[in-house]
Order: sequence, then C-alpha cells, then structure tokens
Amino acid sequence: MIGAGPAGYPAAIRAAQNGLKVVCVDAWVNRDGGSALGGTCLNAGCIPSKALLESSELLHRARSEFAAHGITASGIVLDLAVMQKRRASIVRNMTGGIGSLFKAAGVTAIFGRGRLLPGRRVEVTRHDGSRSELDARHVVLASGSEPTELKSARFDHEYIVDSWDALEFDSVPGKLCVIGAGVIGLELGSVWRRLGAEVVVLEALENFLAIADQQLAGEAARHFRKQGLDIRLGAKVTGASVANGAVSVSYSDRAGAQTLTADKLIVAVGRRPYTTDLYAPGTGVELDQRGFIQVDDQCRTGADGVWAVGDCVRGPMLAHKGKEEGIAVADLIAGRYAHVNYDVIPSVIYTAPEIAWVGQTEEQVRAAGTDCKIGVFPFAASGRARAMEAAVGFVKILAARDSDTILGVHIIGPMAGELIAEATLAMEFQASAEDLQRTIHAHPTLAEALHEAALAVDKRAIDSINR
Ligand SMILES: Cc1cc2nc3c(=O)[nH]c(=O)nc-3n(C[C@H](O)[C@H](O)[C@H](O)COP(=O)(O)OP(=O)(O)OC[C@H]3O[C@@H](n4cnc5c(N)ncnc54)[C@H](O)[C@@H]3O)c2cc1C
Repeated sequence: MIGAGPAGYPAAIRAAQNGLKVVCVDAWVNRDGGSALGGTCLNAGCIPSKALLESSELLHRARSEFAAHGITASGIVLDLAVMQKRRASIVRNMTGGIGSLFKAAGVTAIFGRGRLLPGRRVEVTRHDGSRSELDARHVVLASGSEPTELKSARFDHEYIVDSWDALEFDSVPGKLCVIGAGVIGLELGSVWRRLGAEVVVLEALENFLAIADQQLAGEAARHFRKQGLDIRLGAKVTGASVANGAVSVSYSDRAGAQTLTADKLIVAVGRRPYTTDLYAPGTGVELDQRGFIQVDDQCRTGADGVWAVGDCVRGPMLAHKGKEEGIAVADLIAGRYAHVNYDVIPSVIYTAPEIAWVGQTEEQVRAAGTDCKIGVFPFAASGRARAMEAAVGFVKILAARDSDTILGVHIIGPMAGELIAEATLAMEFQASAEDLQRTIHAHPTLAEALHEAALAVDKRAIDSINR
C-alpha cells in the first residue's frame, strides 16, 4: 500500500482482515516535522476543517442565537489559540488512532516514500534516508492529491496560502480573500467570517455552486450573503502580489478590471492528483490527460497486480469515495465480490446551513430528458428545526414519473450531512418515493422532512401546502 489516507488505510486494514500480509508506506510530514497516518483528510482536510467549522459556528450561535432562547451571555470572547489547540488535538488523536487500528489488524506501517518499480517491487525511502525494497503480490497506489496552484497567484504560504495553511492561521485576518467558491473555499470562508474576518470570495464561474442543484445553490447563495460572505461571481483572477504585509489581488469581471487588498489570500481552486515520483518508468502505470492514474471500473491500472484508489484516480475527490474504492480493491485482491456504486456517492458542504445531495440534480434529470416528479419540504414547517432555531432551507426529492424511483435528493438545512445518509441508503436500494412515504419517521425529527418531501413528490404532504 502506498499512501495511508482515507483510501489507503482502509484498503490496508481490509486486506489484513482478508488474511494478507500488508505493509503501508506513507510519506506525510506535518508542519512540526512529525510523520502521521491519515493523509490529507485527517491532517489537513476533512477533520481539522470540521473542527474549526464546529468551533466557529458555536461562537457565532453564542453571539447571535442565545438571545432568542432567553439566554443572556456577556463577555463572549474568542481565544483562537485554544480553538486551534483543540483542532490540533483532534487531529493527533484521530491520526494516532489509525496507528492503533493498524497494530490491531497486523498492518506494518512505514513512514517514508514508496516508489513502484517494474515487477511489483516497491522501493522505500524512509525519512532518515535509508532505503529498502519490498516484493509484493499486489500494490495499491493511494497517493492522493495536492492543492492546485494558480500561475497568477503562487503560494508563498504566508500571505498567498493553500487550504492547509488556512486551517492553521494563528490570528484572524482583518480582510480575507478566497479564490474559488467551491466546497473548500466556502467552508474556509465561513470559518474565518464567523471568527470576524471580512471575507470576499472570487469565483470565475457565473453560476454559484454549479455542481449542485441550482434551486439549492440559489438558496445557499442567499444565506451566505446574509452571513456577510461577499461572493463575486464571474470574477477571473489575473494576478496577486504581496507588498507591505498585504496581498493585492487583481481580477476582471463584467464591469472590467478590478483590484482588492486583503491580509490573506486563500487559493481554493481545486486539487490535482499527486503522483510525483510515485512509479519508475516501465511499470505499466499510466496517467490520463488530467494527470490521474488510469484505472478500469475496478481500479486496476495497466500494470498486472497494481491498483490505484482515491483522489489519484478519476471520480469525485471525496474521502468516502476513496474509502469504498480501497475496501473494494482489498476484497477483489482476496477474490471476493466487490463493487463501488459511483452513481450513489453523497456530497456534503459543512457550512451553515449545511448542504448535501446524492444522485442527479434537477438540471441533470431534465438534460437527460427524464420525466420526473419533484417534492419539496421546507424546514420552516419542521417542528424539530423550529425547536432548534434552525428552520432554514428545504429537502427536495426527484423521482421518475413512470417508475417512482428516487433519482436525486438535495438538502439545505440543519444537519443535512447526516440526513443525506437515509437518502443514500434509499437510493442504494433503488427505493421509490413511495418506499420513503411508507417508512415511519420518528417525531419530532429533522428526518421527517425527508418523509414529507417524499409525500410532496405525489402532492400528498401533510405538514406543508402541496403546490
Ligand atoms: C480543506 C479540505 C477539506 C476537505 N473536506 C472533506 C470532507 O469534508 N469530506 C470529504 O469526503 N473530503 C474532504 N476533503 C477531501 C479529502 O481530504 C480527500 O478526498 C481525501 O483525503 C483523499 O484521500 P486519499 O487517500 O486518496 O488521499 P490523501 O488523503 O491525500 O492521502 C494520500 C497519502 O499518500 C501519501 N503519499 C503520496 N505519495 C506517496 C509516496 N510516493 N509514498 C508514500 N506516501 C505517499 C501522502 O503523503 C498522503 O498521506 C477535503 C480536503 C481538503 C483539502
């Protein structure tokens, strides 16, 4: 196994569960120089970002929401050092946990770089410089991805920063500019906005959240702007320069050339597969035009016995997608059945309100020419959401008009990232809207919004007016 991120480490554990002798080599080095398992997700991605999103949301709610509950709180002060210490300790705990899981499963972890050589040999260079070679029956490449750099805004990691840098700021920037209104840009922009920064988000596309259902995207844009995120669409960055402790960003939009000055600039324009020095010539591993390792539907590369999973191969760059690929490959190697259903992969944006979806958007359904029924249920009509002071957003369900099969579920609102699990399970089992309608949901829960949206598909919602 090369790489111990969320694609590589589950593959290692499952392969060991399947009775194989497993070695997992990982090159990750944290900013303090220490090695750690868990890859981008645990060290510099999913987990630290969620820790800060939670803390910053609590601060925001304490300041803006307590009063509505009749709680008077005075002297609420941000201690960023403590907040960051908490983030770091969660990361340490989780990455250390993988070490314990490896030990329990009998996986040998090696901290260093792995390089595939012809004939399924792996050259391992440990962090102390010592080298060794391993012979393997199977090799799984799980080398992940890295932030995309813009030629017009090169990282200096102090003023022009990537997402990892932006998770470790030790003071709140007065003014923050984010390039890219994608998942990472919106999450990081939300964190620093809630902690007090003035935030401008520059997005080259004219459509906000083009990957999401556009009804949901429109609702999201409205909330984010209300929260003070200054989102500028159709804004193409042309340059960035640092002088006198500030970044000057130039961009062009419909109105022409613009500039703005910020204390920090986060470049969050996406990630690209990381395959630097991962394999020697003659191994049979090949990259596609976009730099992803070429694989078939079951993650086999062009080299016999060499597999690749996670962010370094095609498909959405999501931890849970990589995890399923890793587990599937470990089972295929053991001769078991395995399958990844790429049509049913949930996506979540952990902003407030949260955004989550699975399956097709309304735009995709219409483009495919499928006749569909749509049910929408607003959280404003949910007793639980009201009790939580979180009655914003809605659940939207798309179902095929002929078969009633659920084609897509889109949620913006409280705990959307948790609620989407029910929709994902339903779609995995090819459920119909009627199946959800006939499933009893506990009252009062947020999940009832899914039940009601399913009823609304057939204009039979009880707790909201059917349109
Ligand atoms: C700020 C941020 C927030 C995110 N939030 C989410 C989220 O909420 N949910 C979600 O699903 N996804 C999220 N992601 C994406 C998620 O982190 C990735 O999809 C996931 O980490 C990919 O897993 P992976 O195992 O393929 O790669 P990685 O996690 O990148 O792991 C690859 C590992 O391989 C190692 N490696 C590379 N080359 C070698 C080599 N030659 N030898 C040895 N080791 C090597 C690397 O050091 C690394 O440890 C987020 C990403 C970022 C940046």
